[in-house]
Amino acid sequence: MSQDSQFDVAIIGAGPGGYVAAIRCAQLGLKTALIDKRKTLGGTCLNVGCIPSKALLHTSEHYAFARKHAAAEGIELGQVGLNLKTVLKKKDKVVSQLTGGVGMLVKKRGIEQITGSATLQADKSILVQTEGEETRIQATHTILATGSAAVELPFLPFDGETVVSSDEAIAFESVPEKLIVIGAGAIGLELGSVWSRYGSEVTVVEFLPKVAAGYDDDVSKHLERSLKKQGLRFHTNTKVTGVRRTDAQLTVVAEKKGKEMTLPADKILVAVGRKPYSEGLGLENIGLATNKHGQVETSKKFETSVSGVYAIGDLIAGPMLAHKAEEEGVAIAEMLANKAGHVNYDVIPSVIYTEPEVASVGLTEADAKEKKIEVAVGTFPLSANGRALATDATDGFVKIVADAKTDKILGAQIISRNASEMISEIVTHMEYGGSAEDLGRTVHAHPTISESIKEAGLAVSKTAIHSL
Ligand code: FAD
Ligand code: NAD
Repeated sequence: MSQDSQFDVAIIGAGPGGYVAAIRCAQLGLKTALIDKRKTLGGTCLNVGCIPSKALLHTSEHYAFARKHAAAEGIELGQVGLNLKTVLKKKDKVVSQLTGGVGMLVKKRGIEQITGSATLQADKSILVQTEGEETRIQATHTILATGSAAVELPFLPFDGETVVSSDEAIAFESVPEKLIVIGAGAIGLELGSVWSRYGSEVTVVEFLPKVAAGYDDDVSKHLERSLKKQGLRFHTNTKVTGVRRTDAQLTVVAEKKGKEMTLPADKILVAVGRKPYSEGLGLENIGLATNKHGQVETSKKFETSVSGVYAIGDLIAGPMLAHKAEEEGVAIAEMLANKAGHVNYDVIPSVIYTEPEVASVGLTEADAKEKKIEVAVGTFPLSANGRALATDATDGFVKIVADAKTDKILGAQIISRNASEMISEIVTHMEYGGSAEDLGRTVHAHPTISESIKEAGLAVSKTAIHSL
């Protein structure tokens, strides 16, 4: 069966980039189609990424608190048990509530939701295949938002059972006794934390000299120390070279300073990055090719080399983050409606949701040094913050990097409980071109951990009140 439909905009991929673009297009009066292979909307982020991982981080944090810390707070719980089925059910419920909510928003905005696999055709129409049915879509503008997929190590292909990506590691049906995590980035540290809290012996193997590579050394070291205290093991400067399998044992083989290392494993989570995904999209049919990173290249206005075809989100250059994809979704929709869409790439925050969380925005101190920008740095330890002391959250610090001449904030890093929420204050100051003094002179409620941001702002000019 075949149907023909004409739209102002057709969007392929309903992740944070695609579905947000669709909503904004509809708000601006454009007749919009949103196509995804998945029945549920929200892409990687809502279905198998940001949201399920945060649900697991939340429940596992409670479990770890009950097991390890409640007694010290005077809470006597007796024997603490784990019902993993309930944990997974709760995570799945959160996912279905959120994907259902997005589905409702899309429907109420009058967006045509089409479920199926989309392939671009030579005449720039889109063929959508759904279980034996084909739909052909014509659109004035096409936005590609097909996202990304986990990178596989050539000598360690995913098997969905023992060698897995995050897709499976958010849904293990039992707690693996020994979990080897390859890669100490966001996925490795977040999901490594989850399974460590649930009782796995977690060993993280990282190629680089440090964990959380995008952060300054003082932040990365602090995070590694905190996670080690929680029981995670780390081998940095270590390269995984292979795997040995016998009937009885799976062993990861790695190399550290020229020496071979063997690590027994029940499961191996490969978390060495993600790559743009355009399989089956038919880019070649319209004369588009990807670059050596697998990205679709675009102009600053998100247009590809084929007129009328645009790309956003993980499929193009830039950090692979949901909020970056969302901002691009809004910007492209506004541009297509002849408005001034814009993304400020200098102030895109990033967070790793461990305990403590790490969050950053703008330039690190190391970035500034590399760019030969003279900076003044202010730090403030959470151990000197009253609210942090009262709530057992003293593990961490705030670091502000400001221009030494103008005092303008160039970047910040926070390692703290709820750093993900705290970083927004600095993002806002940076968005308006704020200075470290502006942070220091902004009234903060007392007692709050956010007062550490004010103090770090003051520390840039060595005028912090509660530290020397
Ligand atoms: P995606 O969300 O990947 O969506 C692309 C969609 O396109 C998919 O639904 C796919 O089915 C569809 N598609 C692909 N090809 C076709 C086709 N030919 N036809 C039809 N449909 C197609 N980011 C954060 O900012 N914060 C976090 O906390 C965070 N946590 C994460 C945790 C994990 C475990 C993972 C894996 C990722 C996480 N991310 C996080 C990254 C975030 O998920 C991505 O940056 C974001 O989803 C990218 O959005 P997107 O719209 O570009 O693509
Ligand atoms: P990543 O790029 O964040 O980290 C991958 C790590 O693996 C790096 O430290 C890298 O040095 C290491 N590595 C690469 N090859 C290796 C090898 N052969 N042996 C050992 N280590 C190796 O990638 P990720 O953690 O897989 O996450 C993928 C993407 O998803 C990222 O772009 C990230 O932004 C996004 N994500 C974001 C969040 C968040 O915002 N909280 C959470 C999860 C995922």
